[in-house]
Amino acid sequence: MILNIQDKFNKALPADPNKNNTIRQVTASCYSYVSPSPTANPLLLHSSTEMLNELGLSAEDAKGSSFLKVFTGNELLPDTHPYAMCYGGHQFGHWAGQLGDGRAINLCEVEHNNKNWALQLKGAGRTPYSRSADGLAVLRSSIREYLCSEAMYHLGVPTTRALSLALTGNDVLRDVMYDGNAAYEKGAIVCRTAASFLRFGSFQIFAARQDKKTLKTLIDYTINKHYSHLGVPSKDVYIDFFKEVAQRSLEMVIHWQRIGFVHGVMNTDNLSILGLTIDYGPYGWLEGYDHGWTPNTTDSGHKRYRYGAQPEIVHWNLYQLANALYPVIEEAAPLESILKTFVEQYKSQYLSMMKSKLGLFEDKDGDAKLVYDVESILQDTETDMTIFFRLLSGVTKEDKEKGLNKISDAFYAPSEVQNTLKSKWEEWFIAYHNRLKQEPFTDTQRQTKMNAFNPKYVLRNYMAQLAIDAADKGNYDMIEELYQLLKKPYDEQKEQEKWFVKRPEWARHKVGCSMLSCSS
Ligand code: AMP
Ligand code: MG
Repeated sequence: MILNIQDKFNKALPADPNKNNTIRQVTASCYSYVSPSPTANPLLLHSSTEMLNELGLSAEDAKGSSFLKVFTGNELLPDTHPYAMCYGGHQFGHWAGQLGDGRAINLCEVEHNNKNWALQLKGAGRTPYSRSADGLAVLRSSIREYLCSEAMYHLGVPTTRALSLALTGNDVLRDVMYDGNAAYEKGAIVCRTAASFLRFGSFQIFAARQDKKTLKTLIDYTINKHYSHLGVPSKDVYIDFFKEVAQRSLEMVIHWQRIGFVHGVMNTDNLSILGLTIDYGPYGWLEGYDHGWTPNTTDSGHKRYRYGAQPEIVHWNLYQLANALYPVIEEAAPLESILKTFVEQYKSQYLSMMKSKLGLFEDKDGDAKLVYDVESILQDTETDMTIFFRLLSGVTKEDKEKGLNKISDAFYAPSEVQNTLKSKWEEWFIAYHNRLKQEPFTDTQRQTKMNAFNPKYVLRNYMAQLAIDAADKGNYDMIEELYQLLKKPYDEQKEQEKWFVKRPEWARHKVGCSMLSCSS
């Protein structure tokens, strides 16, 4: 296994001088050196062919003993110096102080085909940032992170990626629903990858500690390394940097809304400075279209991170990032103006995204009403989001009366679509058909465009859970099946129609399917 290792982060930025692996507050340093803990009996369950290629590795490499040892914490690559990153964050709206990589360890950075990848093990043991936790990850959450990050990539959503998924052979104690029923589960490690794992909280920690020197060092490094097109760091470039982070974060969240992805824990330590979807924990996919839905039971009281609030939360998080960057800019107005623009851009980009979902590519009067009306009726009728938009592409300009019939398979309780509700749907379809007639595209052209925008297959919560249940019993076939399926989420895959179905009733209230916690 030959990797072109080009470490930058741990060469350019200040390290914690203390090399002991003890829990502590780490100041004036961006990371602490720490090696992964050895694992008892590692077994590689899966590796991503696409990600192997990105790193210049082959499928053969992934079968080698060195791959297994390196990506399960039992061997270090020559001349590498693994480390855990220091960051802070606002958790559920409150400043939580230092958090840091409590169970993630960066092995090294690799350069291939002009791309830079940091390789990070998640679940590889305690670090100085583990606080009171064990530094480990369990199989269920590792399967969820592994499958979802690759699925998001194939959906065209900016995301961290995953290279490998392995069992450690160690048992891990977890209380899944935090109700006093702790039990042992299988431990696992995912090797995840990204150009950088820096988060908003990586900058916040230094601002909170009034450590302007380290803050500036980190900002300059981030710009030089990841935003070099903005120019040599200066006050104006810092402002442009914030502007681009805001734009990228907006683009990311619009994608989430488009595909029905709910992150679940949008704390500022879980927002990437590169605008990547990061930290797949209690995330979920909308089944019934519902702006108020969150999969995270830990957040069931306030539903701060519900589907409909995600763009607003990105804005809130950007506001915190602006505060963190302020010490090097020392002027609030340009940051405030970017935050204000974000809100306007969000409104227009959201509308344009929803119009594309409906197959409306021209701009006409009344489009916004058509979008808001359908959102409102969709919420009154329990309707499967993915199936609805996919079936909608099959409605033709001549289908005036039949539109409703064509999408009714997306309803969870078709018999409840009666009286007023039915009339609302019929009225909406009349308006929709009239509007479709103003589109220049043929039905077939429109269908092709819509189907490239509205996925047919997403990682429904119950699908991941089926793969987890089988894997718990030692059968890993479904991990491969779902991995292959989700490589082509927009394609019709005739032999895979069984995954184009509504959530089965058994999954409605099942832990892991509709209820997830931060315990992972
Ligand atoms: P999260 O909200 O899951 O991204 O995690 C918040 C913080 O808790 C981060 O600093 C994590 O590294 C840390 N953390 C989560 N789970 C564990 C664990 N099992 N052991 C150590 N630290 C953890
Ligand atoms: Mg996190």
